[in-house]
Amino acid sequence: MALIVHKYGGTSMGSSERIRNVAKRVAKWARAGHQMVVVPSAMSGETNRLLALAKELAPAQQGEDYGRELDALAATGEQASSALLAIALQAEGMPSVSYAGWQVPIKTNSAYTKARIESIDDARIRTDLAAGKVVIVTGFQGVDASGNITTLGRGGSDTSAVAVAAAMKAEECLIYTDVDGVYTTDPRVVPEARRLHTVSFEEMLEMASLGSKVLQIRSVEFAGKYKVKLRVLSSFTPWDINITEEAASGTLITFEEDEQMEQAIVSGIAFNRDEAKISVLGVPDKPGIAYQILGAVADANVEVDMIIQNISKDGKTDFSFTVNRNDYAKTIDLLKAKVLPVLGASEVQGDTKICKVSIVGIGMRSHVGIASKMFRSLSEEGINIQMISTSEIKTSVVIDEKYMELAVRALHKAFDLEQAPV
Ligand code: ADP
Ligand code: ASP
Ligand code: MG
Repeated sequence: MALIVHKYGGTSMGSSERIRNVAKRVAKWARAGHQMVVVPSAMSGETNRLLALAKELAPAQQGEDYGRELDALAATGEQASSALLAIALQAEGMPSVSYAGWQVPIKTNSAYTKARIESIDDARIRTDLAAGKVVIVTGFQGVDASGNITTLGRGGSDTSAVAVAAAMKAEECLIYTDVDGVYTTDPRVVPEARRLHTVSFEEMLEMASLGSKVLQIRSVEFAGKYKVKLRVLSSFTPWDINITEEAASGTLITFEEDEQMEQAIVSGIAFNRDEAKISVLGVPDKPGIAYQILGAVADANVEVDMIIQNISKDGKTDFSFTVNRNDYAKTIDLLKAKVLPVLGASEVQGDTKICKVSIVGIGMRSHVGIASKMFRSLSEEGINIQMISTSEIKTSVVIDEKYMELAVRALHKAFDLEQAPV
């Protein structure tokens, strides 16, 4: 008998029929003798629907403006789906109880819409498990020190599940979703994408941080920090499939490099459209300009990702960087008001129609020429690279958004990702 955490995403919880299926699957695991904690997301589309209602009432809202109320609003989605799942389990004859984040409690800081989990009190959950109940804990939400409801950022139910698994030292955390594992890239963009049986923790961390939304990045960070055994698998297999078969399906996130069955140089391709590029033109080329520009941006709590400074001409240079699209307007305003006048730069330009495409693989550490193969393949498609950044295990490029799918497909082919490595 083991303590197991299951997480079900929005599509998996998307209708009463699907919730009934989840209940049957969870009841099967409980009847096999496991102690079950289940973390559901809101029903698919519900979080978007709620946040769109808020937008109707306050069209110009920035995340932080109405943060407290946005969180109180969005958290209701998970509260509803959790209660529904508890009802479905009870209707299956399986004792169960659901808890909202504040009832557990899952304590977070007060950063509304992107709060971080600080602690989880598992006493109540343990008492219920000992009494033979399935315990359902709402995903995506927590409570701050003053009793305000908080949420963990979009896709945050993954993080709730892994954090609960870490706090309870669960045997395994199974992330049930609408695809049957982690693929070489998003299978909705590249139909030839191949499911990985295992993926290393480091690669998964890069893929998540570079845009693969199959797991929220913080959930991968938690799994790494607390060594939570994490598997991504499908909720669309028949609920009554053999448990041993089910437990071995999907993709396992591994911590040991030797455990990697498939040792590819490039394991996956990630992409995102969440960033925007900002260029400050005609900046006098002298010590301290990076600090003057990026220091002001950091002071406004805006995170910068890629940075590029051109060579100078006639003592002037151009300085470009990327920020999250949500921070784009704020950053442009800030630069115009505070930085241009002080620096004596001539102009600020912006581009929101960009995307970032990245190749990821721990094999890149020991192989040369991988980045140049990426650049060649993009040039063969006539795709212009605007910015580049590299680390030991990834190379990212910024390109025009309209070429995103073309670039991902071309790279998938160039690195033979549809074939299992030999
Ligand atoms: P859930 O609601 O279950 O949390 P998400 O929509 O957040 O599901 O994440 C699953 C989706 O992630 C898939 O439907 C798929 O389109 C997308 N995805 C992006 N990159 C990958 C990848 N490398 N492997 C698998 N799925 C991916
Ligand atoms: N319901 C939340 C969202 O849509 C959290 C999640 O699904 O993980 O972002
Ligand atoms: Mg998700």
